Amino acid sequence: MKRILFFLSLFVGLIVLFISIYGFMLLRQRPGLPEIKKSGKDSQIRVVKIDDIEIRNLKLDGEFILSQKTIGDKLTLILEADGELEKREVTLVPYYSQTPFPLIYLGIGLFCILTGVLVFLLRAEDTRARIYYWACLCFSSAIIISGGFYCLRKSWLSYLPGVLYYVFYPLAPALLLHFTLFFTKSQKKISRVIIYIPALLLILALEGLFFSASLYSSIEAHRVYQSVLYGQRIYLVIFVLLSFFSLIAGYRKAMLEEEKAQIKWIFYGLIVGLGPFILLYQLPQLFNINLQTEEITNIFFIFIPLAFAFSIVKFKLMDIELVINRSLVYFMLTIFTVSIYLLFVNFIQSVSSRFFTAHTTAVSVLAALAAAAAFHPARKRIQDFVDRAFFRMSYDYRKAILSFNEKAYKMVNRGQLLDFFLKKTKDTLPLESIGISIYAYDAGELKLLIARNGEKDLDSLAALSLDMDKVFTKGDAVRMEENLDFSQERRLRERNIEIIIPLSLKSSDMTGLLALGKKKSGEKFTRDDLELLQSLVRDLALNLERIRLLEEVIYERVEREKLSELVRLKTEFISTVSHELRTPMSSIRGLAEILQAGKIKNKAKQGELINLVASESSRLSRFLHNILDFGKIEQNVKTYHFQKVVAQPLIQETVKLFQPRLDSERFVLETKLPEEPVSLEIDQDAVIQALTNLIDNAIKYSSGEKEIAVELAQKGKQVEIRVKDKGIGIPQEEQKRIFEGFHRHQEAIRHSPKGVGLGLKIIKHIMDAHRGEIRVESQPGEGSMFSLIFPVP
Ligand code: ADP
Repeated sequence: MKRILFFLSLFVGLIVLFISIYGFMLLRQRPGLPEIKKSGKDSQIRVVKIDDIEIRNLKLDGEFILSQKTIGDKLTLILEADGELEKREVTLVPYYSQTPFPLIYLGIGLFCILTGVLVFLLRAEDTRARIYYWACLCFSSAIIISGGFYCLRKSWLSYLPGVLYYVFYPLAPALLLHFTLFFTKSQKKISRVIIYIPALLLILALEGLFFSASLYSSIEAHRVYQSVLYGQRIYLVIFVLLSFFSLIAGYRKAMLEEEKAQIKWIFYGLIVGLGPFILLYQLPQLFNINLQTEEITNIFFIFIPLAFAFSIVKFKLMDIELVINRSLVYFMLTIFTVSIYLLFVNFIQSVSSRFFTAHTTAVSVLAALAAAAAFHPARKRIQDFVDRAFFRMSYDYRKAILSFNEKAYKMVNRGQLLDFFLKKTKDTLPLESIGISIYAYDAGELKLLIARNGEKDLDSLAALSLDMDKVFTKGDAVRMEENLDFSQERRLRERNIEIIIPLSLKSSDMTGLLALGKKKSGEKFTRDDLELLQSLVRDLALNLERIRLLEEVIYERVEREKLSELVRLKTEFISTVSHELRTPMSSIRGLAEILQAGKIKNKAKQGELINLVASESSRLSRFLHNILDFGKIEQNVKTYHFQKVVAQPLIQETVKLFQPRLDSERFVLETKLPEEPVSLEIDQDAVIQALTNLIDNAIKYSSGEKEIAVELAQKGKQVEIRVKDKGIGIPQEEQKRIFEGFHRHQEAIRHSPKGVGLGLKIIKHIMDAHRGEIRVESQPGEGSMFSLIFPVP
């Protein structure tokens, strides 16, 4: 049934279109009186009679008389000028010979029908769309036909446009009111029926009078018809006003910005389109004033379908989403500009023909060139306007998404990506403020991973990030309501946030929130804005995901590299340690064997060898001590036992341990200790170990001048134990790294291949435990000074 009605409506529309065009063609044959001039003076002329019919009002009665005639017919007029009567024969001329108006009406009407059909095809199930369709048909047909009483040349067919006209002309205001009432959302059904009653009465009256006046050639009937037409004018003015009021009421009731914008455009369309017609034509007519403005005011009708079309395209009137093909618009524009261009050429030609009679071809060429020069920039400007009005935004948005993706996928740093995203989004919309926070799950809790702007506000909303399919906003921030969540209005308002979009990151351990402030334009967010935002957010999420995967890969690689480095260090360590152990052990064993054999009888020589054994074994034990300590430090299990200790004896005892080695290697070791006992709160064994390592190094890394000094000094709240040598020294750039462990500089390795690079690391650990520090001052080739600095308790 619905389908039948649908096709029936379209079929009726088609018939109406044919009849209207037929009516339009008849208009071209409409006869008119030639200009009536009185030669000589410019006195007023009045037509008293036409063909023996007395004329009361030339326009009204003339219409009736001429409706039965054709162009070329002869009429006898009785004219009155300066109180004298004159009889004159005239030949009827084409009514529209001077004006292109019917053509303009046809254009307006066709365009209007086009929008009506389009809306009907797209939304046939919507009552509003159906009413719009019928209103368009009525309105267009009425203005294309322009009236009923023209060219009734006794052929039945020529009555058809008139019949249609007297149905559609009264029906159009009722349909308009019906349509506008939809915006008021009133529930009262009864009013919908009532508004068609005046139209129905008028239709009956007008049709009846139309037939009786023309069939019976009755001017009286035509005069009654004229007064009914007067009633029709009142009705029209009232209904148009009512339509305005219902639009205003609808505007005030409209909740959404988009709906308001729709109504506003319809309102503008009606004001501009019907305003002049009502104010300058219909109202003066009501007071019997004929301003001769009908044709001019009717041109404004074009604004009605234009405003509707604009409302449909820009604000999705009746939810119609039109994707206009840019090339189609340009095509139409080209046709439009070419027509104007032709008119322009025509105009120049006709003007020029008054002045030049010859050389018309040259003039035409020149005119064509001039018009082309003038129209090229105009066409460009129109294209620019269309671009801005209809495509610019989506064009810019598409460009923004493309350019974001182009750069984003090359980024490997999360912060950099977020900064770029925020800048792009902020500039494209543009926005007053924008912020983003990314969270990661840590032991079941959302923890901030990275943020830009407003993280404090966002953190308290972090839970919203779990609702990844929603967009949270406030009622007055957007022009639409589908797929939006308004439940957080209060919280958003408190934080000056207009919209929150959760980031849907595929990996379950990451989520995020994007918060937007107001648009700089002060306008609300449109559907296009939200679509842009959502696709940008999707792309951002993908890129964040990509960076996360990249990080995982890098992390794994670093782990792998670390592991292989560890294996390498372990092997190197084992080989160094074995070497370090083997050397003193084999020399101890050798010395012991020599002594055992009893071959050396010399007591002094024996003592020397025994000293050597002692020195080698103490080197061995120092080394083992260091290795064991290093193990404890690495496992974090090295402990210290602090006690009050006087520093001087501790230093002296330690130095004493080195005496045999110093003697055998011919070192001079000087100690400079203050007389006053300096007491420290220390772990005695640890400090002895530190000092031992330093003296050991001083011996190991000395070459020419074998002079070592061990000093103790108290400086304010610090006690320093310094070990100075005149050895190979340490280059500046190495001085920090020697405390890292396993680091030995090249010169040191060359000079003394023994050593694993643990001593200084252990000393640093010991000094840290004492809340003190170790410092080095050194010049390559001149010597080094290591200071152990202790705080005084
Ligand atoms: P090792 O002496 O076993 O190599 P250390 O940790 O004691 O380990 O020293 C680390 C590095 O510091 C040494 O390899 C050496 O390069 C440098 N170094 C330490 N003390 C001195 C010093 N007195 N003179 C020159 N270089 C030194």
